[in-house]
Amino acid sequence: MGLLLGCIADDFTGATDLANNLVRAGMRVVQTIGLPDAPLPDDCNAVVIALKSRTIAPEQAVKQSLAALQWLKEQHVHQVYFKYCSTFDSWYTGEVRGNIGPVTEALMQAMGCDFTIATPAFPDNQRTVFKGHLFVGDQLLSDSGMKNHPLTPMTDANLVHVLQAQCQRQVGLIDYRCVAKGVHAIADRITELKSQGISIAVVDALSNDDLLRLGPALADMPLVTAGSGVAIGLPSNWGIQPAADSAKLPAAQGQQAIISGSCSQATQGQVAHFVAQGGAAYQLDPLAWPSDTPPADIAAQVVNWATAHMASSPVLVYSTADAEQVKSVQSQRGTQHAGEHTEQVLAQVAQGLVQHGVSQLVVAGGETSGACVQALGISQLTIGAQIDPGVPWCYAPSRFALSGGLHITLKSGNFGSADFFTKAFQSLHQSTHP
Ligand code: ADP
Repeated sequence: MGLLLGCIADDFTGATDLANNLVRAGMRVVQTIGLPDAPLPDDCNAVVIALKSRTIAPEQAVKQSLAALQWLKEQHVHQVYFKYCSTFDSWYTGEVRGNIGPVTEALMQAMGCDFTIATPAFPDNQRTVFKGHLFVGDQLLSDSGMKNHPLTPMTDANLVHVLQAQCQRQVGLIDYRCVAKGVHAIADRITELKSQGISIAVVDALSNDDLLRLGPALADMPLVTAGSGVAIGLPSNWGIQPAADSAKLPAAQGQQAIISGSCSQATQGQVAHFVAQGGAAYQLDPLAWPSDTPPADIAAQVVNWATAHMASSPVLVYSTADAEQVKSVQSQRGTQHAGEHTEQVLAQVAQGLVQHGVSQLVVAGGETSGACVQALGISQLTIGAQIDPGVPWCYAPSRFALSGGLHITLKSGNFGSADFFTKAFQSLHQSTHP
């Protein structure tokens, strides 16, 4: 069958989220960290290239995305999927802008593509789009915790506005009434939008049924841009159906740890839950060290603590903090410095823990995951069973792991139930020791 779908994801947790939906829909998927540097397994029919481009300026995000596109073109993929966050956030510097629009337009131009869609809808994770407005659970995006995100706050829920502000091309809407009517109505609406000079359409989706109705309408669209949700409706365009063994990983072994740099509300709850259950936890306060302390020095102290606690149960190392604490750190250290320094400390901790025998690792936070995966020298991940919507276990070779590889899960900040940090290890054991 060969490589059918080529995906470009703007961060690492987002990439696994997308890969997870494709695996659940029956595709054999490999996720690569950056451009693939080794041949892909012969039997994979989708590849997700994970970039770390969500929070970089548009010019660089475009450059990286076009390089990924070039590689995908050389593989002759049938369709390209640009994946962004289900909260539609990206680069932000104080003015409302972002890089989703520029990347979309650059990909369209490079592919000679005159129309595409944009929808972050992911109903399994309570992200729905109604009349172009994004809801997180029962709240508009702009009323949700995303208004306080440390790097990419979102203060407007109207995606047509948000995207139009980032694009030269005209942005329109395919609304829920049209989606409900199915493939022909969607195709007619696309023709209508094109005739009005509109070349990107935000698409409403309130349920998985909407996404499954949308899928067939995208069969001939060379470029799709979306969160991970749209992926559930694409594999059947190639006659692919869900298969039990598409999520198989090696048996889990070794010690267990959790690294959390996400400050999102769901992660705050997961950290509080783990601590309340009496789990061994180390809180990293970015203000506890001078700002120029080398990350490796701080990490060495944390790893020392962790190795004394990790023999019998998972250890948690977290910098997770509430919005007020984050603001205080950012005002004293600068937003970018605080973010990058904390990411580097956590990444060094991840590396140290893996060198000391951890081979089941949960990482919380998109940027944090990017830093950890890079520090672990991981370049390819095989996708396994889902723990919670959007979050699968993966297996990855790493030269730092004592057995040559580790199980790792990259949890996007806002995903997962309150007991995620304990549930994850139980789920790994069950899925790899059937
Ligand atoms: P999420 O998936 O929740 O968005 P990310 O890891 O992508 O999480 O982003 C969180 C950002 O906040 C990272 O850059 C991280 O280093 C930074 N950060 C983590 N803890 C703190 C803290 N206590 N103060 C300030 N920034 C922090």
